[in-house]
Amino acid sequence: MENKTGNVETIRACKFRIYPDQKRQRAIDNSISISQMLYNKLLEKTIEVHKSNSSSKISQRTINQFLNEIIKDDNTYLQLYAHVRVDIRNRLLKTYQNFFRRCQQKKSGAKIKAGFPRFKSKDRFNSITYIENNGSFGIERGRLRVSKIGTMKIEQHRNITGNVKTVTIKREGSDYYAIFTAEQIINPPKIRDINPVGIDVGIRNFIALSDGQTIQKPKFFKKREKRIARWQRIVARRNKSSRRRDYTKFRFQEEWKGITNQSNDFMHKLSDKLVHGGYTSFAVEELNISNMVRNHCLAQSIQNASWNRFIQMLSYKAESAGMKVIKVDARNTSKTCSDCGNIVDMPLSVRNFNCDRCGMQFDRDLNASINILKRAREGHSRRYAQGDMASAIQQELKSRIEELRTYPANAGGANDL
Ligand SMILES: [Zn+2]
Repeated sequence: MENKTGNVETIRACKFRIYPDQKRQRAIDNSISISQMLYNKLLEKTIEVHKSNSSSKISQRTINQFLNEIIKDDNTYLQLYAHVRVDIRNRLLKTYQNFFRRCQQKKSGAKIKAGFPRFKSKDRFNSITYIENNGSFGIERGRLRVSKIGTMKIEQHRNITGNVKTVTIKREGSDYYAIFTAEQIINPPKIRDINPVGIDVGIRNFIALSDGQTIQKPKFFKKREKRIARWQRIVARRNKSSRRRDYTKFRFQEEWKGITNQSNDFMHKLSDKLVHGGYTSFAVEELNISNMVRNHCLAQSIQNASWNRFIQMLSYKAESAGMKVIKVDARNTSKTCSDCGNIVDMPLSVRNFNCDRCGMQFDRDLNASINILKRAREGHSRRYAQGDMASAIQQELKSRIEELRTYPANAGGANDL
């Protein structure tokens, strides 16, 4: 959020591993399982309301009322810290708000599923959140203290900058993590946007830049994806309540955690390099969330998730450095000739873009990244119509495209950002 003084308010998350002993592990597991019960109970009550009158919106007040009733009936829920219960209410409220929003979109013609809020199984409920930094948690001498749970060792590998707002205690497989959110107000430097770059998420490459550089997808992705797919198939085959299924599920989660950590590491390094790479703004494709959800191909959804995280990382790093990340409409970016605007059918297997109108030829990802940059500049040139900046950039872009036209399509392996 940018305000009048040019200050930018950012919220960052910092995730650290924690090492609860057996007693605290039981306390965390217990809190999570009571929270899951509470969530489902609240949902059950709100479903009854919705059933009796489907046009009534489930409001914060409705849920609060049910929350009070449930606590009165059963004091098990008093084992939870009060703010943890409020967070559960917030989660359910958000689910309903999303549901009502999608209903509205559907009414106005969007081809989406409204998706009524669902009960959460044990696997889908794995964290609790302390929503206010009011003394209910804190770090002292390498140990994290959390109300109603106790103290435990925390592996804090970096300092948290800014004002800590919340902490979430999360279970992932057999490991535990503490995720802090911190708010920071920064005053980024003012820089002239003289070297913008377009970024395309590639088919062959992890990304392709409009200046001709490409970054390959790291090898670990493929290896991990194969193993994840294999474990997922085995989990699906096993009997639902069997111990062997629990074991394969555990292996699946471990593999998933592995690819997430490895790819986060890779993307942190890559986004750092881009922000310090001499560029002054970034243009990327707007990701279509409903498309992403609908996609059932596992490798593709891993790729989508990592691309999404990459854009988040790039955005906050760029913003702190005073650069903009501009999101553009993703339609036809790989099918449009970046030189003459002609639209050519491009099946996924076709690697080189050949325009049958102007004869332009180059790498499909490179062509797409130039289109992305152009779209961002078109949007911007309107906004900056007063100054000469826009035309200077258009000029620069034109000469760059000219240069790239003579660039051999497959020489792109410049992996040395
Ligand atoms: Zn063309």
